[in-house]
Amino acid sequence: MSENCIFCKIVKGSLPSTKVYEDDEFFAFKDINPAAPVHILVVPKAHVVSMQDVQDDDAPWLGRMMALAPKIAAENGCRPGLQGGFRLVINNGDDGGQEVHHLHLHILGGQRPW
Ligand code: AMP
Ligand code: ZN
Repeated sequence: MSENCIFCKIVKGSLPSTKVYEDDEFFAFKDINPAAPVHILVVPKAHVVSMQDVQDDDAPWLGRMMALAPKIAAENGCRPGLQGGFRLVINNGDDGGQEVHHLHLHILGGQRPW
């Protein structure tokens, strides 16, 4: 938990969100300003700023977060198969276009055009 971090507040429940998934490690919710018909953010419950802070020993939970993405995508309307799919994005730091400094995986999908 980091003071004044909006995603920590969402994880804690002190800021409202539309939750779509939660387990011991991760929390997923709808993006408030969706860029696609499906736009979900997956965050680690622990406050990690960005991929710039990731070390070798973070590989297991990062792998679990990536493995979670297709399940959350399918459960939230991303279509299966080659005609379906989704985009996964992690923005890091100012040069990476990151606006909220708590690491988050964007899941973007739904039938095009967006
Ligand atoms: P990024 O630019 O990668 O840091 O993405 C931050 C994302 O968080 C943007 O897509 C915002 O629309 C989204 N966002 C900001 N505040 C909230 C919020 N309170 N609830 C849900 N999504 C949010
Ligand atoms: Zn945080």
